This record gives sequence, structure tokens and C-alpha cells, in this order.
Amino acid sequence: MSQTVRTRPEGSERQLSQAYDTALLDLDGVVYAGGAAIEHAVPSLAAARGDGMRLAYVTNNALRTPQTVAAHLTELGVPAEASEIITSAQAVARLISDQVPSGSRVLVIGGEGLRAALRERGLVPVEFADEEPAAVVQGYGGPDLAWGRFWEACYAIERGVPWFASNTDLTIPSGRGIVPGNGAAVEVVRIATGAEPQVAGKPLPPMHRETILRTGAERPLVVGDRLDTDIEGAFQGGVDSFLVLTGVTAAAQLVAAPPQHRPSYVDADLRGLLTDQPEVVADRGAGKQAVFRCGGWAAVAGQEELELSGQGAALDGLRALCAAAWTAAGDGSCALDSGKAVARLGL
Ligand SMILES: [Mg+2]
Repeated sequence: MSQTVRTRPEGSERQLSQAYDTALLDLDGVVYAGGAAIEHAVPSLAAARGDGMRLAYVTNNALRTPQTVAAHLTELGVPAEASEIITSAQAVARLISDQVPSGSRVLVIGGEGLRAALRERGLVPVEFADEEPAAVVQGYGGPDLAWGRFWEACYAIERGVPWFASNTDLTIPSGRGIVPGNGAAVEVVRIATGAEPQVAGKPLPPMHRETILRTGAERPLVVGDRLDTDIEGAFQGGVDSFLVLTGVTAAAQLVAAPPQHRPSYVDADLRGLLTDQPEVVADRGAGKQAVFRCGGWAAVAGQEELELSGQGAALDGLRALCAAAWTAAGDGSCALDSGKAVARLGL
């Protein structure tokens, strides 16, 4: 399923926490960073829940079990139950259980989250290629994953055992910087075997299916910080999305986003769930260049760069810039320089 090409962020007269029944929230860069809560996240989520919005958390990280993630969130001040956490480990376990008989052995390269998810689907996690696994599954194993685990994966894959990966995020944020994620570990095995894994995590359909199955959301809003996982996953699933700028995405990247990376809404942080979203209005005089206005700002796609004038809230300026850039780019990426305009907003 795909959507028509979005050419501007949408407006919403109702606050998002009332316009949608369930928020499907990414964790890293949205709710917490390096283990600590992101500013405004805790009170904003409490208020959204108070408005009747259901909250669920959707993570590509397969290392931790839903129980562990829920305990961490609760400790940060965001009370959560294990049933409200959806992981790529659960999505890949369901994908495997669709293709191998119940009770099959599955060789695990990864952590406890992956083992628990396999058991939940009636599969048996094993450690070695010689245990005759029906599948190999690879998920993030944390800093202690031993190199020998790749050997076991390679032995089994070379014998023709089908290979699955929870997700292919190349990097993950740690408290001290960016480090290799499961995607980097998958590349190690791919280089050694020449094989191709089946992948479950965001932005792919198995993760979206798992999320909808577990939450029963009817009018969900995907909330994320990353364009190529959170926002693209929502696009692929035909679901509205809300980008927050508290994680990995810089304003200039958003302005240059191709259609599958354009969110329905953008705001600085999770406080955006509690407000209406301003409309971007296009002003197209006959024969004149289109001007995109939001709040006190006006944006125009010039010959070589995006031009911004006016004043007001930075996010309104960004919304106007997105509309000018996305309209100019159509179904591609906007190549116009946004440097000066973005700098003007202080973003
Ligand atoms: Mg994230």
C-alpha cells in the first residue's frame, strides 16, 4: 500500500492526542536517549494518555524483552505494561513461525529478547549449527556478542538454512556515541555467505503487521525520530506519522526528504501531541511563484536555494520550508540548498 505524494505537512484542528486513538511510539530519540528521558516526554505522554490516547511502543531493538523495556519506561516515569511494547524480535519470530513447523529449532545470533519471542511462537532457540536448526535468526546482541556467533550463523546458512534478521539498522545510539547496530552485524554474515536475509523490522511490513495485531489500533499515529525507519514504515503501512526533532533527524534532512520519508506532522518534541497542528497555506498568484505560508513565515523555492522570510515560531518556518521544498521536488528529493533558511530558524 502506498500513499499519494505528500507536498506539505498537514494541519490538524484537533490536538493529535484526540485526533488519533493510538500513538505507536518509537523509543530511542523519542522517549529516551542514552537511557534518560528526553525533555518534555514524560509529562507529554501522561497528558496524551489523559486525553484518552492509547500509547504503545514500537522498537527495532531486539535485544531486550518487552518486560525489560516496560520496566525501564516505568522507572523513567512513563508507566508501561509489557503488552504495550512491540519489538522487531516479536515481528521476526512471527515471520519465522509462518514458514517453519511449530516446535522447530532456530539458531539465535542475538539476545534474550529474541529467544523469548521465539518461545512465545512455539519455536525452540538453539546455539549451534550442528543442532539442525530450521532457521537462523539474527538480532542485536549488545557489546558482548562473541565473534564465534557469526561462525555458527555462517555454517548453517552455507548448508541452506533460511536466514532471518530482526532489523537492519546499521547504527544505534549509545550513551557515548554511535555504534554498530544489527544491520552492521547482518553485513558481516552477508559478506561471508553471499546470502540474503528476510527482514522484519521497521520500515518493513512484518513489523507494521505485528504492531497492528498486538495493539488493535484503528486510527494509529506513528511517532518517530527517524525518516528511513519510523516515517517510511508508516508510509508503507498507509498510516499517518509524526516526526519529532529530538533524535537523529536534522531539519535540513527533513526538508530534502523524498516522498516515503515525509511525515504527516512535524514538531520539536512530544509536546506536539497536545497541540493542534498549523496549516501551511499556498499562495499562487497567476504567473507568480508559489509562496508557502505558515505562522509568520513565507517560503519560496528559488533557482538555487530555498528562501525564507518573516518571523515567528521556528517550527512554523520549518513547515513552510518543507512545503516549498516538497512541492518543488514532487516525487524526488529537493536538491535546493536549505542551509541559510534553516540557519535562520536556529534549527
Ligand atoms: Mg529512534
